Amino acid sequence: MSGLLVVAEVRNGRLADLTAEMIGAASALKAGLGGRLTVGVIGEGAEALADAANLEGVDELIVVEAPAAFDAAVHEEAALMLVQACVPRLVLIGHSASGMAFAPALAARLGSGFAADVVALGLEGSELFATRSAYGGKVNMEVGFPGKALVVCTLRGATFAAPKAPGSAHRSALSLDPGGIAGAGRHLGYEPAPPASVDIGKAEFILSIGRAVSEETIPRFAALAERLDAVLGCSRPIADAGWLPKAHQVGQSGTIAASCKLYIALGISGAVQHLAGMKHIETIIAVNTDPEAPIFGVAHYGACLDVHALADALEKEFN
Ligand SMILES: Cc1cc2nc3c(=O)[nH]c(=O)nc-3n(C[C@H](O)[C@H](O)[C@H](O)COP(=O)(O)OP(=O)(O)OC[C@H]3O[C@@H](n4cnc5c(N)ncnc54)[C@H](O)[C@@H]3O)c2cc1C
Repeated sequence: MSGLLVVAEVRNGRLADLTAEMIGAASALKAGLGGRLTVGVIGEGAEALADAANLEGVDELIVVEAPAAFDAAVHEEAALMLVQACVPRLVLIGHSASGMAFAPALAARLGSGFAADVVALGLEGSELFATRSAYGGKVNMEVGFPGKALVVCTLRGATFAAPKAPGSAHRSALSLDPGGIAGAGRHLGYEPAPPASVDIGKAEFILSIGRAVSEETIPRFAALAERLDAVLGCSRPIADAGWLPKAHQVGQSGTIAASCKLYIALGISGAVQHLAGMKHIETIIAVNTDPEAPIFGVAHYGACLDVHALADALEKEFN
């Protein structure tokens, strides 16, 4: 067994960004692991979808035509065929609703090692290890796979750098008879999530608010963010209370601020789950009345200040 297989993430007839991120993660390991990097694309119109997966580092693209509606049993079978075709050492699948629906079953059928929600991959000599969070995101742990010739991992989105340059992969196809696969589910229809007014993953400047802010004062901070040309982010309690849509939430169970260069955290304590979405940002400014707040541990600049006093000053400055 050698090389790597990436199972492309297809969402609603499109190749999701996570596919390129998984290709980036696989490319970084290719030299150490040896062998070829294969990307398998499963879905309706897989041949056309595969164009977007033809990125630098990819040696082979294998397409498997399958019905448009996601079916975990069909994906499991198709992924098994891909593994049998390229006999990899490592299989990467998106840590998404669909990836989680078939990756563990695939690993069980293959008798492989398995790690979910992986945020880093590495090699110690020839031994693979994966980093994933545990205990509700409070710790990161490294997982080894002793004695396992094959490993399956699901990778967290917005975590690995995607290659930009196009590739020149060889193409082939496998055929699958979905009619012969008995799935446990039945597709009733596709309901898109309500359109998000913000894209935290792509924002370069985020002004983020936490529990220090009340429901009544949210419009004030939203206006301030607009005036500063920032995207309004928030911690989970704000989204959980329904004060802002979930799309604004930064963190482990929200969105990772993957493209952000400047992050201003107002009245956010800095819980590990929040830090998971922003601690990598090159400039972090924290404002909090508690000098012991953990957010100051990752902030480059900080002020022990009431967020409302800061809002008064900024409004005067930028009116
Ligand atoms: C599985 C799991 C996933 C989670 N995912 C996420 C996630 O994705 N994102 C996320 O954010 N959280 C997440 N959480 C929740 C997380 O653990 C924290 O509860 C949350 O981040 C706390 O939000 P906060 O900092 O706004 O509130 P708090 O922890 O209550 O902090 C409020 C801060 O405001 C300061 N403050 C109060 N008044 C003022 C004032 N007037 N001026 C200035 N400062 C003031 C306080 O000193 C305090 O530090 C998750 C939790 C779990 C278990």
